[in-house]
Amino acid sequence: MKLVIAQMKHETNTFSPVPTPLERFARGSSLPLEGKAVYEAYKGTGTAIGAFIDLAGEAGAEAVYPVAGNAAPSAPVETAAYESMAGRIVDAVAKGCDAVLLDLHGAMVTRAHDDGEGELLARIRRVAPEVPIGVALDMHTNLFPAMAKLATAIAGYQTYPHVDMYETGLRAGKAILSNKKPVLAFGHRPMLPHVMRQSSLDSPNREIQARAKEMERQGALAATFFVGFPHADIPYAGSSAVVVTDGDVAKARALCDELLDMAWRAREQFVYRVEPLEKSLLRAKDLNGRPVVLLDHYDNCASGGTMDTMAVLGGILDAGLEEAAAFAICDPQAVEQMKRAGQGARVTLSLGGKMDMPALGLKGKPREVTGNVRRIVDGIYRNEGPMARGELADMGPSAVLDTGKVEIAVISRHVEPHDIAAFRALGIEPEKKRYLMLKSRVHWRAGLGPMARAVVECAGEGVCTSDYSQLKFRRIRRPAYPLDPLDTDFRPSV
Ligand SMILES: [Zn+2]
Repeated sequence: MKLVIAQMKHETNTFSPVPTPLERFARGSSLPLEGKAVYEAYKGTGTAIGAFIDLAGEAGAEAVYPVAGNAAPSAPVETAAYESMAGRIVDAVAKGCDAVLLDLHGAMVTRAHDDGEGELLARIRRVAPEVPIGVALDMHTNLFPAMAKLATAIAGYQTYPHVDMYETGLRAGKAILSNKKPVLAFGHRPMLPHVMRQSSLDSPNREIQARAKEMERQGALAATFFVGFPHADIPYAGSSAVVVTDGDVAKARALCDELLDMAWRAREQFVYRVEPLEKSLLRAKDLNGRPVVLLDHYDNCASGGTMDTMAVLGGILDAGLEEAAAFAICDPQAVEQMKRAGQGARVTLSLGGKMDMPALGLKGKPREVTGNVRRIVDGIYRNEGPMARGELADMGPSAVLDTGKVEIAVISRHVEPHDIAAFRALGIEPEKKRYLMLKSRVHWRAGLGPMARAVVECAGEGVCTSDYSQLKFRRIRRPAYPLDPLDTDFRPSV
């Protein structure tokens, strides 16, 4: 048996000004990996492609690895980047194989295609109409019909923070490799669950995901509810579900509708209400215990944020909060300045605010910050987990600017703080801090949640704003809750 195993992952924020060239899909190197380097990088990691590698080994299959690329979320993927990766995958399939296993995100928009994954599957189907295709997807998939119609089996993450990437790879891969007859049903509900309300640690997604897991214990090959990624102005942004069964189409349909109905009934619980920043920071001053997490959720680079807005960090500096650490401001120019000054030097930087955000009508606003260059590092480390355990992370050349009150991590490549190793790589001990400012929304809870004594959600600035009224939706299918107030009698069509 011969398998084609590939990874091509991107969650596209169509409001983001951050470009997405091919290099963004690489980690610790300048281009995405291919061939044996993919096997060596991902064997033994807690990722979907890591699971595919293990399944191929167990089956005694020959496997080829045309590409493994995983970019932090940003603007639509540059055409050259997409053509390079998709081309390598299609060429590998065209040479002949018995099955294809793909580790995709499921919300990839390119400069030419609203549905990057559907386009990839369509191209694969043109060279291999019958080949079984198993796809592992992120819970933030925006599912276009083409993807569901062209894949043989689909499994998506059932956790957020995403700590079941490996298990998701197993679910997608086994549906293809274990002599079953996978059939699937899919559907949508016209709703945009708010990212800050999507965690599977909380209601209502906790119960929806528990039911999906139960469906699998009762015989479904894969049952997935996708919360969807709302920061994408594309027709199929929003919630969907896919259920795969062993040959029973009616069962798959019924289970899929059950998941969608659960989500639809809970739609009000998925709505987020914003608290003004000044009020949040005042509240933070009175909280006991350490660390208190100050969540800069408008500027999460893992949702397309520029990771250089200064509103929340500025508020922390103005409020005089002490014993604080901030992760991170992505500002390669500032890192260069600190490198030139050298470790121990005192510097005054025009920090952050380098990128404008035209989709929101916002200009980048740097802030002058003075401090000592505490440390300079290369920024490459390996995730300790539980999320993406063992995967190489690359925040680029990085440095710590210590104001005396706040240790500010300044990095050169986008990395969300979801792993303790990110702090250790910079010599910061987060558990000893009074305050931890994190540019994150939910994933920080994977590696840092257990140490947090309190959390204050801080409304700053950025293209993953938690205030939907700042986003100009023009192309999403309407109606869509909560953009449109839908009454309880509304019956969505699939
Ligand atoms: Zn996700």
